[in-house]
Order: sequence, then structure tokens, then C-alpha cells
Amino acid sequence: MDILAKLHLPTLEKGWVWLVGAGPGDPGLITALGLRALSEADYILYDALVDEALLALSKAEKIYAGKRAGIKSCKQDEISDLLVRLAKEGNRVLRLKGGDPFVFGRGGEEAQALARAGVPFRIVPGITAAIAGLAYAGIPLTHRDTNHAVTFITGHGADGKLTKLDWAAVSRGAPTLVLYMARKFAGEITQALLEAGRDASEPAAIIANATRADQKIIITTLAGLPAAAETAPALAVLVIGENVRLAGELSWLAKTIA
Ligand code: SAH
Repeated sequence: MDILAKLHLPTLEKGWVWLVGAGPGDPGLITALGLRALSEADYILYDALVDEALLALSKAEKIYAGKRAGIKSCKQDEISDLLVRLAKEGNRVLRLKGGDPFVFGRGGEEAQALARAGVPFRIVPGITAAIAGLAYAGIPLTHRDTNHAVTFITGHGADGKLTKLDWAAVSRGAPTLVLYMARKFAGEITQALLEAGRDASEPAAIIANATRADQKIIITTLAGLPAAAETAPALAVLVIGENVRLAGELSWLAKTIA
């Protein structure tokens, strides 16, 4: 990696934890710091959303520490405890998470555990699903003609229930809304936004498996979102706003559009 050497990147030191965002799928979207960590780590604790091709680059001991259907999911405390223990034993530890570690991914909780245990750490941002997904769908997250603000929302909280938000305020707050983990509650969310005055015919999209080989984009309207969500693959972000219309012109991965 000659060009990486020229960047004079910091080194993942013994006893440190790097909390790194791997991006949402396409392994090409990891950062140079992320690659650095892959090449230096003794241990990698990785999430279900992390691409195998990235893991294969590393000689580190790999420990699965995410949620996946059919596999007993790790408890958050266990993951944090393991990070602390491995670091205190003097290992170089990479915690590799999907997207960005600080966006709806409990990276904040893991960093708090490290801070409280006195373990030195670095946060390496990644490209979050909303940003990469819209880019790969040809939907500008902002455009001067359509929106001057964006809201990122999670559809459910830690309890698995619909997020408690002032949906009327959310609806008025920004012209473009991007929702993570919202497929299950697409009906309730749509209903709340319609009641708050959003237009039923407003363009909306579901970007599923964003940046992956099986990326699937469904273009619909706000009113059509619940039905579309039922047919969409599970890993998806929902987008509501006029910018969605631009996908017609900008969908450079056009062959993947359903
Ligand atoms: N930290 C991650 C988000 C974790 S929450 C990030 O920054 O992207 C998990 C949710 O992220 C999923 O339910 C889905 O809404 C979204 N997501 C993650 N990867 C995705 C992908 N490749 N395509 C579409 N949505 C994705």
C-alpha cells in the first residue's frame, strides 16, 4: 500500500481500540484509516453488515459481534466488556461497524464503555447508509432547488417500538427525510406524516442493500411507501422528498432500478 504510506496515517497502537465505520456494503467505501486498522489489528470485532471481502484482508483474529437472524446476538455489555478486556491485555483492537459508528449503531455506547474503563480509543467515521445509499441511487441528499435541510430518523428505538418523535414537527422540519430501520413501521410513519400535512403524492424511495451487488431501488410516493416496504428487502433506508424525483435523471446504476 505505497500510496497509503504517503498519507502518514496514525498507527493502531497496542492497548488501543479503533472504532471504525466500514461503510454500508461496497468494500471500496472504507476509509484509508479503516484499511490501516485492518492491516494492523490483532483482533477485529465485526458486525453483520460488514463485507467479508474487508475481513479477508486482515490477519487478525475475527470475532462476530453483531446481530444476525438465526444466530444468538451478542449483548451490548458483552461486546463492550470484550473490547475493554482485549485492549487491557495489550492487543490492537479494531471494532468494525457498518456505515458510520456514531449513526444509529450504538458506537456511542461502546465509546462510553472505553472512556469509563480508561482505554484509549480513536473514532474513524464511515460512510453512513443514508449518504452512500442516496449517492448510489442518484438521489442528491441536498439540492438547491429542493431542500436546505435533511433529517435522519430511526424508525424504532432500543425497545423495538416505533420511535417516539413529534412527527408533526418532523414533517415540517425538513423537506427531505431519510429513515433507517423504518421498514417495519412504514405504515405508521406514513400515516403520521400524512396527518401532519405531508402530501400523499410526494416522491419517496426505498433503497435496499445499498451499495451492494444486490442493491434494489423502489421509486414510489409517500402514499405508496407502506406497500412498497412490504416487498422490499429487509436492509433498507426510506427517503421522502422532492429530491427523489432526480433519480430519473441521475440513477447512474440504472440497471439495478426495479
Ligand atoms: N451505523 C449504520 C446504521 C446501523 S442501523 C450506518 O451508519 O449506516 C441499521 C440500519 O441502517 C438498517 O436497518 C438500514 O436502515 C440501514 N442500512 C445499513 N446498511 C444499509 C444498506 N447497505 N442499505 C440500506 N440500508 C442500510
